[in-house]
Amino acid sequence: MKVLAILYKGGDAAKSEPRLLGTVENQLGIREWLESQGHEYIVSDSKEGPDSDFQKHIVDAEILITTPFHPGYLTGDLFEKATKLKLCVTAGVGSDHIDLNAAVKKGVQVLEVSGSNVVSVAEHVVMSILLLVRNFVPAHEMIERGDWQVSDIARNAFDLENKVVGTIGAGRIGYRVLQRLVPFDCKELIYYDYAPLPEAAAKAVNARRVEDLKDFVSQCDIVTVNCPLHEGTRGLVNAELLKHFKKGAWLVNTARGAICDKDAVAAALASGHLNGYSGDVWNVQPAPKDHVWRTAKNTLGGGNGMVPHYSGTTLDAQARYANGTKKIIENYLEDKAQEPGNIIVGLGKYESKAYGQR
Ligand code: NAD
Repeated sequence: MKVLAILYKGGDAAKSEPRLLGTVENQLGIREWLESQGHEYIVSDSKEGPDSDFQKHIVDAEILITTPFHPGYLTGDLFEKATKLKLCVTAGVGSDHIDLNAAVKKGVQVLEVSGSNVVSVAEHVVMSILLLVRNFVPAHEMIERGDWQVSDIARNAFDLENKVVGTIGAGRIGYRVLQRLVPFDCKELIYYDYAPLPEAAAKAVNARRVEDLKDFVSQCDIVTVNCPLHEGTRGLVNAELLKHFKKGAWLVNTARGAICDKDAVAAALASGHLNGYSGDVWNVQPAPKDHVWRTAKNTLGGGNGMVPHYSGTTLDAQARYANGTKKIIENYLEDKAQEPGNIIVGLGKYESKAYGQR
């Protein structure tokens, strides 16, 4: 059986740090285990175009392992060619790079290592909120430049206390963000999600649900995006929705780049309608050198907290999703039941309710 893994190149870092498991060099730590059972294990970072290893090996792979950090895009067309494919495993959380409708049609199962990096991301969200609200990045850049002008920073620095924070999506990550915000004494914590939180969970963080998205964003000082990318969320935060944001609001997106319209966000930042944009996810990954989000600034020359896609790939997270990937493959090989929370697409149907209302 052929197992194909598309991972990112770890370079020197991965050679000297074996805990960088999700890399081409360290191969999720499962080569020996797979080969000892007689399976073939192909690992590559080459994922774009017909000559890529991805497209070359997908035709006879039975298991495909991908990671959201370096997404191998398994399109409907590639599903047609992948005649042996039975199982797609996402080493991490978020399987939007797989055409899930095609997986349903073709009877290919799609599983994630649910929960493996949700704390990692929630911590990054809280950090991103704080760094925008407190105007941290320009302050640090000033120090590196050798300058010292407190007022230039303080004129756009605020407290998180007494602000309204809202999450689009209150699943594993969104809820953990709300939990972590409780001690900051925000004015209110609100959420927008078609799946209401269980009453006790909402009560525990004192979160109010707002059912209309425009109404929701108009109440937020800070919006954090924590829903999956699917047909219903692609381009959700666009020019039209941004009009309903409070002037000077901050937006944090660690969910998926394509949920926010690239140019509309950059324009809202440049006009001052948004005071800041921060996150680690991009509509194309790796992001091109001239991607507008790399350098977009607010009217005071700050408000950009963008980083490469790494919030969910801390070394702690990598250990968890490497173990989880192995467990999913082991269950498959031994014909054992999978952890229900990991199944996005089961045999011929969606098992998760998170990728759109059906
Ligand atoms: P989850 O399935 O636990 O929660 C997702 C929530 O979003 C669900 O409650 C669902 O009902 C809600 N949702 C779906 N569509 C929505 C919509 N149109 N409007 C509002 N809410 C909607 O997933 P999770 O573990 O919290 O992860 C969420 C997403 O975060 C992942 O799908 C992935 O895209 C992203 N993620 C990013 C990183 C990273 O490193 N940046 C890491 C992990 C996950």
